[in-house]
Amino acid sequence: ADEQNIICGALELHRKTAKEIMTPLDDVFMLNIESCLNFNTINEIMKQGYSRIPVFENERTNIVSMLFIKDLAFIDPDDNTPLRTVSNYYQNALNFVFEDTTLDTIFKEFKEGNKGHMAFIQRINSEGEGDPFYEVVGIVTLEDVIEELIQAE
Ligand code: ATP
Ligand code: ATP
Repeated sequence: ADEQNIICGALELHRKTAKEIMTPLDDVFMLNIESCLNFNTINEIMKQGYSRIPVFENERTNIVSMLFIKDLAFIDPDDNTPLRTVSNYYQNALNFVFEDTTLDTIFKEFKEGNKGHMAFIQRINSEGEGDPFYEVVGIVTLEDVIEELIQAE
């Protein structure tokens, strides 16, 4: 029954980790902070249809800001507003979590609600010559966690 699925899903949340359910970074629609919110950019944002758009600087693994669709309400495409201006104005909170964080923890954070409903999944990259550093490898949203809740067998 559905109720059973949901209960089993709830019991599994402490076993599954963020990296198992994340949308990988390569599939994430993001914007470069150097972008200009002109007609073409806004058109592309609308076409993609996401409510939350991560903003990166230099490299896609370096997330510095988050744009909400609602932040565009007062933007006139003819003004060619730099995305950086909008990002600095709203300063929306970013929620970074380590890739091994379990879904029950993420779910709790989403419910508390002060950091929004998208988490950036980080890992430590120690592959290169230099010092290890954090890099973002994907995103998890509330919807991804709820899907785990209701699709569990
Ligand atoms: P909402 O339903 O609140 O309008 P949304 O439809 O933009 O938000 P979610 O419902 O949170 O997005 O997530 C739906 C799926 O899309 C999830 O798998 C999530 O990981 C993915 N997703 C969310 N935002 C993006 C994005 N900017 N680029 C790529 N995938 C995204
Ligand atoms: P998001 O988190 O995707 O930006 P939101 O904050 O606008 O969306 P939800 O997270 O969907 O809204 O809902 C939060 C709570 O606010 C829910 O209890 C919902 O029923 C309520 N809510 C949403 N929209 C309205 C509205 N226009 N008027 C009153 N209550 C609303």
